[in-house]
Amino acid sequence: MSRQGIRRGPYDLAVVGGGIVGLAHALAARRLGKRVVVLERDAANVGASIRNFGFVTVTGQARGAQWRRALRSRDVWDAVAGPAGIASQHAGLTLAVQTQEGLAVVESFLATEMGTGCQLLDPAPALARYPHLNPEGLLGVLESPHERRVEAKHAIPRLTRWLAEALGVQFAFGVNVRAVDPPRVETSAGPIDAGAVAICPGSDDTGPFAERLAGYRLSKCKLHMLRAAPLPGTYRQTAAVMGDLSLVRYPGYASLPEAAALTERLEADPGAGPALAHGIHLIAVQSADGSLVLGDSHAYADAPDPFQPAEVDDAILNLARATLALDDFRVTERWTGVYAAAAGRENLIDRPRDDVRQVVITSGTGMSTAFALAEESVGELFAGDPSAHPLPV
Ligand SMILES: Cc1cc2nc3c(=O)[nH]c(=O)nc-3n(C[C@H](O)[C@H](O)[C@H](O)COP(=O)(O)OP(=O)(O)OC[C@H]3O[C@@H](n4cnc5c(N)ncnc54)[C@H](O)[C@@H]3O)c2cc1C
Repeated sequence: MSRQGIRRGPYDLAVVGGGIVGLAHALAARRLGKRVVVLERDAANVGASIRNFGFVTVTGQARGAQWRRALRSRDVWDAVAGPAGIASQHAGLTLAVQTQEGLAVVESFLATEMGTGCQLLDPAPALARYPHLNPEGLLGVLESPHERRVEAKHAIPRLTRWLAEALGVQFAFGVNVRAVDPPRVETSAGPIDAGAVAICPGSDDTGPFAERLAGYRLSKCKLHMLRAAPLPGTYRQTAAVMGDLSLVRYPGYASLPEAAALTERLEADPGAGPALAHGIHLIAVQSADGSLVLGDSHAYADAPDPFQPAEVDDAILNLARATLALDDFRVTERWTGVYAAAAGRENLIDRPRDDVRQVVITSGTGMSTAFALAEESVGELFAGDPSAHPLPV
């Protein structure tokens, strides 16, 4: 994994971008036995892929292809986590429901194929099993076994190292890709030779074939995130937590007819005002050291500002207090992240040429769906099905 000394190739596939989407492409191409180089502009990935919750979300993904991609990607995480040394911090989801309208959404969700394996627990059994939830106002808990949680800031570098050391993927960091015309790829470190190229630029829409990305009317979404440390030994979470506001944000729930009444109820509730104004819903996950990652807000703009207003953080923390049995904690870190967004679209695979794909996840679901999406994109480039091949180790 070098900053200099880039090998010119030839490669079968050059991947532009070392985030989860680029890494997923490298893995899919190696399953097909292809020679792969990943070209990353920064000295390491510092983009959306290390800033997220590491929450591999299945339940709540849009019905159909997106939900199936999440299931497949979860299975890929399960397969690579051990060999790559990535710990699963916890599994499953507990969605705390505090409104009657929310219960109706959950009941409707459970009647769909997406509810397989999930159940609605009454408060008493839910609290016995999940004492990390706040009992106040709790009407029920949607329990899902499908989710995983990894520590993103460790998982991405570990996945990178494993792809390099165990699977023979070449990595070149600090290398900006300027132009793509296979078999020639122009980079800031000189040309390289690759038969096909997958451009996985995250929220950067200014690179090769930028004019084609403009056709997708992309914007960006800025999110606030916090890390909170409970008093030692006072709090243990055994699954990810979400709440009613998640039911009107995640399309797998929000597109159900019952969600309209929940939206109305929340909009009429002054207590939900700050959260709704900043696009906030609660995700809470816990790390090995006991700290919680809490978020998130959603602010859409073509050029998100770099500021992190305290009122948004406060609204996230208030929601956490209302949902979690968390008495005392200290905020130890705050950060923002940005992902690509496009109205009504979860992702895009753009096809500028037969031998080039641009792949952008436009819905904040990259940790949950990138592995499956990359199998589709790589499958197209090489006329094969990466998922039909075992891990090449
Ligand atoms: C705060 C936050 C929380 C989130 N939480 C979750 C979550 O819990 N679960 C989930 O599923 N999703 C989550 N998401 C979404 C998820 O993180 C993204 O969908 C995913 O990381 C996108 O991956 P990527 O590889 O496309 O982008 P990035 O990780 O941003 O990587 C793109 C890379 O491409 C490089 N690059 C761009 N152009 C060039 C070029 N010309 N040459 C060389 N390199 C280039 C960049 O330097 C960058 O490293 C979250 C996002 C954010 C911001």
